[in-house]
Amino acid sequence: MAKIAKLDDIVSLCKRRGFIFQSSEIYGGLASCYDYGPLGVELKNNVKKAWWKSVVQMRDDVVGLDCSILMHPLVWKASGHADKFADLIAECKKCNTRTRIDHLKEKLVPSAVEGDAEQAEQHTEHVSIDTAQAKLHDLSNKICPNCGMVGQFTEPMPFKLMFETQMGANIDDSMTMYLRPETAQGIFANFRNVLDTTRVKIPFGIAQIGKSFRNEVTTKAFIFRTREFEQAELEFFCKPGTDEEWYEHWKQQRFDWYIKLAHYAKACVDVEYSFPFGSGDWQELEGIANRTDFDLRQHQRGIRTLNKWFENDRDLSRIQLADEAKDYQAGPLSYFDDVQKHRYIPYVIEPSAGIDRSALAFLVDAYDEEEVRGETRNLLRFSAALAPIKVAVFPLVKREGMPEVAINIYNDLKKYFNCFYDEKGAVGRRYRRQDEAGTPYCVTVDGQTLQDNTVTVRERDSMEQIRISTGQLRNHFREKLDI
Ligand code: ATP
Repeated sequence: MAKIAKLDDIVSLCKRRGFIFQSSEIYGGLASCYDYGPLGVELKNNVKKAWWKSVVQMRDDVVGLDCSILMHPLVWKASGHADKFADLIAECKKCNTRTRIDHLKEKLVPSAVEGDAEQAEQHTEHVSIDTAQAKLHDLSNKICPNCGMVGQFTEPMPFKLMFETQMGANIDDSMTMYLRPETAQGIFANFRNVLDTTRVKIPFGIAQIGKSFRNEVTTKAFIFRTREFEQAELEFFCKPGTDEEWYEHWKQQRFDWYIKLAHYAKACVDVEYSFPFGSGDWQELEGIANRTDFDLRQHQRGIRTLNKWFENDRDLSRIQLADEAKDYQAGPLSYFDDVQKHRYIPYVIEPSAGIDRSALAFLVDAYDEEEVRGETRNLLRFSAALAPIKVAVFPLVKREGMPEVAINIYNDLKKYFNCFYDEKGAVGRRYRRQDEAGTPYCVTVDGQTLQDNTVTVRERDSMEQIRISTGQLRNHFREKLDI
């Protein structure tokens, strides 16, 4: 039975072994921004590769895309983000901490404390930037998560989540731009381009992995919620009426993906994961949404708004989105079904995963500690696809020609797998370092290798060692690692 990791264990291992560092640490750190170190970047790349393989490479009905982070500001007017992408926040009058009101917990009255007293964080949709509505929320029984005061909050206010920046060198014609808060809109904006340049036919999907930015009010729990993060999103376009079927299909596909990679999954449902913070609450790992035809229809309105954009000095706050054309079903973002000779706006199913949040779930899931001969062994039981290093190669000692043989093996294997060579210190300690990095296999060259060309191959989880001839190593690992 694997040990249930505490978040502190994960943070400390990540720092110690170079998985994840605080951003700008030498300047005291920048809150809620993180850097991936040498092992972390391999892990993160492997998460992305595994997603891309499952969602794009292995499917005949999905193509990829890589859009720019900065987009025309009208994109955000049409998508609703410019007017609606806000969280409701309230400030504690005692300690001045601002918290999202859907993250505030209630003070429980004694009669309600029976049974499960833990309250999961509520999830509410992002709200409109409308202050009047915001004030209606009752916070009289809510607790400040920072100082514990009950009911001492300012009136709730909307807090905009999009980061703004300026584009253009001249003050007169520079323009306010937004760092994208989701990658999805780049896909909708390219829907026509993809239709016109490829042979895709509905049902089909467009997938993208990339950075997104949100000025989150409360950031927490390491890389779970950060202000700069990476998303892996698929917009799957289908005929209205088939959307429920595709929704179920993608829910299952995505669920299976997590289970396949997290061999030792303690839990993973719909797609939530029980993270080791808060009260062990189940938290969203991936959102799977039926976006209907909303986005494509909105962008058709957005395109019709372009004139107003120039007339209003490119000031989004002064612009009203154009009304929807009466024949919107035949608009520029419609799809023509050439079998049924019928034009319509497709529906969209969207599985939207967080790469950093998935990486954290995989780290938590892989983390383990066990007693071995009176010592604690820390290890990451990563699946082969996720392990940053697949094979480590060691000479038992740094003499008798062993390093030369080991380097030859390393040079050969690294053409196929991400490998690591280490000749420093006692071999037992080298094994432990690789256990902590999550390396599934270690190869050791010893005295016998010089006699009969066999080496020891040690497996991380069982610590079992077998002897294999050097000529068979490549095939052995190909089969074992399944990559
Ligand atoms: P929440 O309500 O937790 O703020 P959300 O429902 O707005 O999240 P989505 O817009 O559905 O999140 O984003 C899709 C996925 O992107 C999430 O499931 C998560 O994995 C990831 N994600 C969203 N926001 C963040 C963030 N601030 N940091 C890290 N990952 C994030």
